[in-house]
Amino acid sequence: MANFYTDNKDLKFQLSNPLMEKIVNLREENFAQKEKWVEAPLDYEDALDTYDKVLEIVGEICGEIIGPNAEEVDLNGPKVVDNKVVYAPGTQQNIDALTQAGLFGMSLPREYDGLNLPMVPYVMAAELVSRADAGFANIWGLQDCAETIHEFANEEIKKEFLPRVNKGDTMSMDLTEPDAGSDLQAVQLKATYDEKTGNWLLNGVKRFITNGDADISLVLARSEEGTMDGRGLSLFVYDRRDGGVTIRRIENKMGIKGSPTAEKVYKNAPAKLVGDRRLGLIRYVMSLMNSARLGVGAQSVGLSEAAYREALKYAYEREQFGKAIIKFPAVYEILTTMRIKTEATRALLYETSRYVDIYKTLTHISKSRSLTPEERNDLKFYQRLSDAFTPLLKLFSSEYANENAYDAIQIHGGTGFMKDFPVERLYRDARITSIYEGTSQLQVVAAIRSVINGAYLKRINEFNEIDFKPEFQSVKNQLKDMAERFAKSTENVTKAGDGEYLDFQARRLVEMAGYIIMTQLLMIDAMRDDKFEDSVHLFLNFAKAKFVEAESFINSFDEDDIALYKKEFFAKELD
Ligand SMILES: Cc1cc2nc3c(=O)[nH]c(=O)nc-3n(C[C@H](O)[C@H](O)[C@H](O)COP(=O)(O)OP(=O)(O)OC[C@H]3O[C@@H](n4cnc5c(N)ncnc54)[C@H](O)[C@@H]3O)c2cc1C
Repeated sequence: MANFYTDNKDLKFQLSNPLMEKIVNLREENFAQKEKWVEAPLDYEDALDTYDKVLEIVGEICGEIIGPNAEEVDLNGPKVVDNKVVYAPGTQQNIDALTQAGLFGMSLPREYDGLNLPMVPYVMAAELVSRADAGFANIWGLQDCAETIHEFANEEIKKEFLPRVNKGDTMSMDLTEPDAGSDLQAVQLKATYDEKTGNWLLNGVKRFITNGDADISLVLARSEEGTMDGRGLSLFVYDRRDGGVTIRRIENKMGIKGSPTAEKVYKNAPAKLVGDRRLGLIRYVMSLMNSARLGVGAQSVGLSEAAYREALKYAYEREQFGKAIIKFPAVYEILTTMRIKTEATRALLYETSRYVDIYKTLTHISKSRSLTPEERNDLKFYQRLSDAFTPLLKLFSSEYANENAYDAIQIHGGTGFMKDFPVERLYRDARITSIYEGTSQLQVVAAIRSVINGAYLKRINEFNEIDFKPEFQSVKNQLKDMAERFAKSTENVTKAGDGEYLDFQARRLVEMAGYIIMTQLLMIDAMRDDKFEDSVHLFLNFAKAKFVEAESFINSFDEDDIALYKKEFFAKELD
């Protein structure tokens, strides 16, 4: 029986990270939950055992149902019939299997029929589902919206909507509009308060909405007349059974074809306000997008894993010049690079998930009791780290998923260009990961703050203080040298005090930080499992080459050189 969890030991390894004990204690309120819920774990070991079992079920459903359905789903895709999106048969079968196993609403608290799983095992399940079918991962992963309801809505809304998620009700996140993409401050869909019914009424168009015909939608809308920016936007929850929405069409896309992407028109659609007015974008959607970015991180790592496995299998089977192609250095070099990119971004994925786990759980706890001074410090510390690491994760994992899918096709040669093998689908599916939930350029806009305020350098220096194995001394020295050069490059770029020049160089600076951090995370993993020792050396060599490329780009152009770039396109303006 194919099982995507048990066939990948790196997942269980991440589940046993030392920070998990703190995470589980917080999540289970020091195991006070066992007094109220028979299914609650008795202690830390019991909790880990439960996560392991849940993930084993997810892994089996992925290996036996979702993975085998992926080709049919890609081929048939969803359709709109009578203003309703009808999924491909395989998609419906996937939803039914996960619902029957109680795997929708995994991270919701038990009082709302969830499993109260921390972020780490939930993200792991998302990686597994993505490896099986990245398009389907969107439909399943939109349960992140339930987290936002749980975090910010009032009790009445929570009671009304959250238990439905576990029964298989699907969700969507309706933010984008034709004129509001990366710039969500430009959202225009209008929300008007209806005195008679006490409801809000939504009017306008949303575009590119994944699973747009979902049972429950979170909608970003302009509630404050006369405003033009993000401070006039609020968040609403809409129930499809209340009507008022037309699915204008679903898009004909390049990849993730099983995941319907809808244009929808709201016409006097009744909805309920989530949390407070005016905080829709600046607080709630920011939080929602951070969880969703972790989701795309998981989707990207799952895709990388799938691409690597397909390429490896083919490289052993295919013979040319009288031997298996894996024997050619040009081929095994590509495969090794694919593997280390997957391992490095997986390390970053679960490190980020642990930070998010701790700060989100502490935030929940702070609503029911006051935090101890130590907990307050933890909350601040892990929130800052989450803010710094989330865009880094989204940037690197999605770019590497694209590179790995590209390389997987290369290893298949002409066969990879045909629809006969899964790599062709993986290549198309991977392409979206660096676009939605904020493009790579927007991840850099978010991450550069942590370069400027020193958050990355601080974390890099903290990691460098760890007492690593003696055999890593040389690696540690090299990373220290890289950290100094990263600080120097940051200074070189910022000293001009020129914002445009900083934006121009931002990606290279963010990447420099990323190469150091990912190597450090692999080194930390290697302290617990020798298996990662080779990965540290391999990734360090790869990272050093990339680091030098970024550093040399920065040194090659100063602020005056921007004019050379612009000259090509804006000659008149420059004159
Ligand atoms: C398949 C699919 C599913 C989607 N699902 C959802 C969903 O469920 N819900 C939802 O609300 N939205 C969804 N989206 C929308 C998605 O989030 C947006 O497409 C994305 O954020 C980019 O916006 P845009 O397409 O308008 O591109 P634009 O914002 O027009 O960007 C075009 C280019 O300009 C660059 N750019 C823009 N601003 C800047 C800047 N400040 N600095 C540097 N570069 C910049 C971008 O990086 C990009 O390269 C989906 C999109 C797709 C394709």
